[in-house]
Amino acid sequence: MTLERLWAGWRNAYVSGAVDGPPDDAPDLAVDDPVRCVFCRIADSGPASPDNGVLWVGATVMVVLNAYPYASGHLMAVPLRHVRSLDDLGDEESGELWAATRLAVAAQEAAYRPEGVNLGANLGEAAGAGIPRHLHLHAVPRWKGDTNFMTAVADTRVLPETLASSWERLTAVWPGR
Ligand SMILES: [Zn+2]
Repeated sequence: MTLERLWAGWRNAYVSGAVDGPPDDAPDLAVDDPVRCVFCRIADSGPASPDNGVLWVGATVMVVLNAYPYASGHLMAVPLRHVRSLDDLGDEESGELWAATRLAVAAQEAAYRPEGVNLGANLGEAAGAGIPRHLHLHAVPRWKGDTNFMTAVADTRVLPETLASSWERLTAVWPGR
């Protein structure tokens, strides 16, 4: 039994609970089709819940658990609108994207006590974006020594908890809640 196989089970549960179509990176996906974009579907999936992985929804931006986390509590701040680039953001969206990121990191620090946090966005496929058509900003909790040999050798991560557990932990400490 491989760790990758362990991983895939609950990932599929998450995806099927949040969306009702193929993943955004399906090969037949028309470019810039917001109807089938996974982030657009999550944005339309109702209030924050463990089923859709959404932690927080603002006027223009949401914070959602990454269904393919690099670490427990891996969050993404995502504009509700289907926008590709930083240039596409209006002033309110741009400001709220950063405000949402601050909330996400504060919740991660309270829930997980990480020794560090990586913040970053992969803009475009060449930069490694898994969903290049809908802008998203990652916040990944880090600990000394967490880059273990499984990650380096097999591109497989060892995760101690499910997405539903992460959602409960982060929701319990979400700022202002
Ligand atoms: Zn979208």
